[in-house]
Amino acid sequence: MNTVGHLINGQIVTDAARVQDIYNPATGTASKQVALASKATVEDAIAAAQAAFPAWRNTPAIKRARVMFRFKELLEQNADRICEMIGEEHGKISHDAAGELQRGIENVEFACGIPELLKGEHSKNVGPNIDSWSEFQPLGVVAGITPFNFPAMVPMWMFPLAIACGNTFILKPSERDPSSTLFIAQLLQEAGLPDGVINVVNGDKEAVDVLLTDERIKAVSFVGSTPIAEYIYTTANANGKRCQALGGAKNHAIIMPDADMDNAVNQLLGAAFGSSGERCMALSVAVAVGDAAADALVAKMSEAMQTLKVGAYSDSSNDFGPVITRQHQQKVVGYIDSAEADGARVVIDGRNPQVAGYEEGFFVGATLIDGVTPAMQSYQEEIFGPVLQVVRVSSMDEAMQLIDDHEYGNGTCIFTRDGEAARYFSDHIQVGMVGINVPLPVPVAYHSFGGWKRSLFGDLHAYGPDGVRFYSKRKTITQRWPSAGVREGVEFSMPTMK
Ligand code: NAD
Repeated sequence: MNTVGHLINGQIVTDAARVQDIYNPATGTASKQVALASKATVEDAIAAAQAAFPAWRNTPAIKRARVMFRFKELLEQNADRICEMIGEEHGKISHDAAGELQRGIENVEFACGIPELLKGEHSKNVGPNIDSWSEFQPLGVVAGITPFNFPAMVPMWMFPLAIACGNTFILKPSERDPSSTLFIAQLLQEAGLPDGVINVVNGDKEAVDVLLTDERIKAVSFVGSTPIAEYIYTTANANGKRCQALGGAKNHAIIMPDADMDNAVNQLLGAAFGSSGERCMALSVAVAVGDAAADALVAKMSEAMQTLKVGAYSDSSNDFGPVITRQHQQKVVGYIDSAEADGARVVIDGRNPQVAGYEEGFFVGATLIDGVTPAMQSYQEEIFGPVLQVVRVSSMDEAMQLIDDHEYGNGTCIFTRDGEAARYFSDHIQVGMVGINVPLPVPVAYHSFGGWKRSLFGDLHAYGPDGVRFYSKRKTITQRWPSAGVREGVEFSMPTMK
């Protein structure tokens, strides 16, 4: 069996003392293994990144940008291969993998503008013949820890911008589907990056804990589940590091009585079941305002769901694929069981999907559950599967209260024709990313991505303008060149412009 190794100082290294199987979720069989880095291997990567930092920091931003331009071209040239790797290990259908990759490439395009983004701020004559400016300097060695569900896109939320800012980087991808991530890092190396600027260590908690505690790591970006995000944030902070840790979600869509119901159903289908619901922005709860809207939604949704196709990544006519592991499949089925046991009605049941030729795959069919209440475990927790739950409420205020009371605040959406209601909703809702008739309001690369409440620990959102701030530190310089007429005597009071 092939073993996926690490990229350290420009070389592929395999530290195979501990390994873990990588599964093809469509067939349910292990086809490869991934090396799980030891402390010593992670320390090698940190040393390489540390050694590469001084030269990379001094490389002009325009030259750093040129590497990103070449990287973008290589990503586009190798798109089919990357999507194939994503499909094999994640199970995502090729059209969906292509979408993820494109969203990642858009972050590389943003990083290509780094000379403009790092220009800083300048003020002439803040005092007589005194000038002052702020510049944004790189931090040093920074780390990224990423989840399984976007093996190409989420790492590219982090390392292109961090590296363009002049930092060197250590990426710890998900151990469940690491091949596309490693390959992408190799493409960046091939684009002309000096050795040691990008390093990839595959592994688990052992590798992560080194990144969280080693004093040479200056900042950590994390994306994954909330319990781990909280652990990463508190541990990184306790070790003096800057940290942004993005966690889980439970994204609600409000369906107002005046919504264009056919459009809402079409949008919900993709947002609830696309990528098997394994997206942190997946819409997993539909909050219908009034029984008439709820009845219409459930009737139209049930009918539309009959046409959905679940299957392997290689058949692009499929709508979505399997979930990531057998264990996760059982967990998702367990949530459907618990909703039913708690009194909800399973309208469309995906617990036993038939996928011809893939009987051992980790599939769950699209599932619709009506009559869900906030007291149910299936409502309170993130399911991360192709399950849409319907909660019935009697007013928009009640719907908004439900969303505000939930522990997560990643994304949300309202379907309505009423501009006043939509404006009130977007103004007041306690959620970081809001859609108005847009089901997956994932910000584009030149905005920034982040939820509120327990969906994000930290201050700055991921990528875009917040990403530039996260991966740089502000230095403010005040300058005077004493010369005739500006020389001053001794001054003991606090200098002012009074
Ligand atoms: P996960 O939390 O299990 O793993 C994420 C990363 O943390 C992986 O690299 C993993 O190796 C590492 N990790 C796992 N357990 C650890 C531990 N005990 N100590 C240290 N490191 C550990 O998440 P996942 O299952 O890979 O991804 C799915 C989750 O990610 C979902 O909750 C989803 O909502 C979330 N997610 C959030 C966003 C967002 O932007 N908010 C985006 C994508 C995914």
